[in-house]
Amino acid sequence: MIDAGTGEPEHLSALDAALAGTPLAQVLVTHAHTDHASGAPAIAAREGPPRFRKMLWPERDARWPVPYEPLADGEEVAAGDTTLVVVHTPGHAPDHLSFWHAGTRTLFCGDLAVKGTTVWIPAHLQGDLAAYLASIERVLSLAPERLLPAHGPIIDDPAPVLRGYLAHRREREQQILEAISRGDSTPDEIVARVYRGLKAELIPLAREGVIAHLVKLEREGRLRRDADSWYSVTP
Ligand SMILES: [Zn+2]
Repeated sequence: MIDAGTGEPEHLSALDAALAGTPLAQVLVTHAHTDHASGAPAIAAREGPPRFRKMLWPERDARWPVPYEPLADGEEVAAGDTTLVVVHTPGHAPDHLSFWHAGTRTLFCGDLAVKGTTVWIPAHLQGDLAAYLASIERVLSLAPERLLPAHGPIIDDPAPVLRGYLAHRREREQQILEAISRGDSTPDEIVARVYRGLKAELIPLAREGVIAHLVKLEREGRLRRDADSWYSVTP
């Protein structure tokens, strides 16, 4: 099984129905966000617990402790009658893994991609936009035929979707640089300009997206930030 879910009774009974009496051998966890990892203890508490494997993120994994066996980039994982290759795809989360099935050119891609929308890069949880874009490039270079994301439907045209993500971030970056050169200097001011008319409940998400860009631009030396988180374009 890929990802442990959240451990509600409904999920555990759906798991039993899917297994139909076959023991669960292992759970590969794509990353330690709540909706992927918090169900692990509930699964571990059942009879004949499976192996749990992920790239370790110790301070985060401690929230939902199970005896994780560490996975590393490039490692081969025996899964049923086949083999998956571990692909470290950080950005959405530092420990984010995808699993590559070479025979069918299928990537189990966790939260790397979601059909019809962009992926959240939570700066407060060590999200890293530059790493995310590098992960997208890396996945493109694998030339996958389909992506099986953790959320939403199968993506059976990966290349245009992934290139679309890269284009979208480039465009957003341009808008943010433009906003700053017009005098916006805080994440909130930038959000107000770039996401004009956004519903109030979506503003925190937009703000976090803008911060992910600001961190990247600052690290690249294209922006500078003073102590109060005011940004300006590097002269
Ligand atoms: Zn996630």
